[in-house]
Amino acid sequence: MPYLTDGVVVKLNSFELQDRLGFTHKFPRWAIALKYPAEEVPTRLENITVQVGRTGAITPVAELSPVQLAGTTVARATLHNADRLAELDLHLGDTVIVRKAGEIIPEVVRVIKDLRPAAAKPYQLPAHCPVCHQPVVKPEGEAVTRCVNGSCPAILQGSLRHWASRDAMDISGLGDRWVQQWIAQGMVKSVADLYDLTVADLLTLDRMGEKLAAKLITAIADSKQRPWPKVLYGLGIRLVGSTNAGLLAQRFRSVDALAATGADAIAQVYGIGPEIAQSVRQWFQIPANQQLIERLRAAGLQLAAAAEAQHHATQPLSGQSFVITGTLPTLKRSEVKSRIEAAGGRVSGSVSRKTDYVVVGENAGSKQTKAEELGIVQLTEPELLALLASSA
Ligand SMILES: [Zn+2]
Repeated sequence: MPYLTDGVVVKLNSFELQDRLGFTHKFPRWAIALKYPAEEVPTRLENITVQVGRTGAITPVAELSPVQLAGTTVARATLHNADRLAELDLHLGDTVIVRKAGEIIPEVVRVIKDLRPAAAKPYQLPAHCPVCHQPVVKPEGEAVTRCVNGSCPAILQGSLRHWASRDAMDISGLGDRWVQQWIAQGMVKSVADLYDLTVADLLTLDRMGEKLAAKLITAIADSKQRPWPKVLYGLGIRLVGSTNAGLLAQRFRSVDALAATGADAIAQVYGIGPEIAQSVRQWFQIPANQQLIERLRAAGLQLAAAAEAQHHATQPLSGQSFVITGTLPTLKRSEVKSRIEAAGGRVSGSVSRKTDYVVVGENAGSKQTKAEELGIVQLTEPELLALLASSA
């Protein structure tokens, strides 16, 4: 083929045979993917830099002599964490083998030790955060080294980026170049500060015009309308991704309800394990986070489910939208529909961004594919029954 691929998919092309073979729980029985081994190339490790994420996680990154790999030029590769660094035993100047994991993200596979320069020194992660210069911490038994300084500018920048991201507050135009200036000038010290910004404040920034400033202030103000599950996700609580935020927000109709609940009770929510529950509990115990919630409340953010949904709060699945696809093992479709509706949920015929759950049975087709594309929670029949039972 005149282009690069990471493998091939072999399919039965007879629809009749496809129908007869059907699907397993997850895969069609009439198609199989065959992957080529990833291409590996040697290059030189020039330097190692470190990045600080919104959770304070310190990630080492290999700076490489640029090299052609699977169709692109690669000059950087993630080294994951301190444990992986130690395992690789990297020395600056080493010749390393790189490949693309899943053909996308370059990674260092191993070192060719025979080619190591005599004077090369082993690399160790810095003991201090490269941004705020406070000591970093690596808890015993954890792979990740972290900056734990609550006012570290790198963590703040990561938090703001997460808050503004599409699955959270979806604030368009909130680019790093503005965020960096706000942090540097002390204009923004938490996501709550965004809601105090005025057009006049923004005009003090480098390369900011009146039109752009007005647009950005409007985008920030619009984000006050984002529903409670998105706000919960935006808070960036460790282990609470958008799916978990949705599950928690469905069970706890307001931030006050969630904050007042113990870890054991949080862990009772379908899909939420003890580790996630613990992380939520710890987050709400931190005074700075409690203050953040109060400021967001004062700014008018949605810290509870919409009034209409709350009106039906006695119905556990109220406001939740379901799509059923494929043949379920025991229940008829009409039966599933009436059970969901009895719990206050809605059943619709097509999958969209507004769908909360897709109930998947045998021979599920394009609706399942669509659900996967949109990242919608998929439930098997037993999982649906567990959800109905847990919210009853
Ligand atoms: Zn720091």
